[in-house]
Amino acid sequence: MAVSIKSPREIELMRESGKILGEVHDQLKEIIRPGISTLEIDIEAEKLIRKNGCIPNFLHYNGFPGSVCVSINEEVVHGIPKKSRILKEGDIVSLDCGCIYKGYHSDAARTYPVGEVDPEVMKLVEETKNSFFEGIKMAKAGNHLYDISNAIDAYISQFGYGVVTALVGHGIGTSLHEDPSIPNYHMDRRGMKLQAGMTLAIEPMINLGRADVDFLDDGWTCVTSDRLPSAHYENTILITDGEPEVLTLPKN
Ligand code: MG
Ligand code: MG
Repeated sequence: MAVSIKSPREIELMRESGKILGEVHDQLKEIIRPGISTLEIDIEAEKLIRKNGCIPNFLHYNGFPGSVCVSINEEVVHGIPKKSRILKEGDIVSLDCGCIYKGYHSDAARTYPVGEVDPEVMKLVEETKNSFFEGIKMAKAGNHLYDISNAIDAYISQFGYGVVTALVGHGIGTSLHEDPSIPNYHMDRRGMKLQAGMTLAIEPMINLGRADVDFLDDGWTCVTSDRLPSAHYENTILITDGEPEVLTLPKN
């Protein structure tokens, strides 16, 4: 499948979808506290997404039962919201969700501390976010796709963390997952050339320990094989001739 180049009209819709999702994440951040269940977070996420005239794109995606993936500690991604899963002091929790606005998808993830978190784990959370911003320094027309991958990997490798290879970022637009796949790990080739109008979901998933992951019997939850914590940070971006536009963060 060819990578889609969005028209000016489509870019406007992607911007609106992203803006709403950024605001949803900001509001969800406020409810993160010890004692809340992952199902309560999901209910709030769906309410916020629908209140803004959007559809949660994760709900029923390949049968996923929630509007947000809520992944705690050693869970890398795709945690299923449950009434019985309660956040506790010292956890880290990643929220991954997306909106469909007039047919256009956005996708973003954040990892938050729950109360006071071990400094070593907090550093993982912060450096995972930093690696996203290191990666998108390369995200401009004329550069190549894997320049982004290599920048993320080069940044993360200095800390000795494990870069998840089982899952990758992706193109996004009228579908949640479009071509191209965007690894967060080193590639020997530079890959395809980036063009203005491409919209991409860049999402480093970084493990405190080894890179290996397992998938639980629930068919969804991805966990680190060594059960050490993992962090996830994602935004939907627009490639331009200059700096990329991060569609799922508020503009400053
Ligand atoms: Mg996501
Ligand atoms: Mg994604």
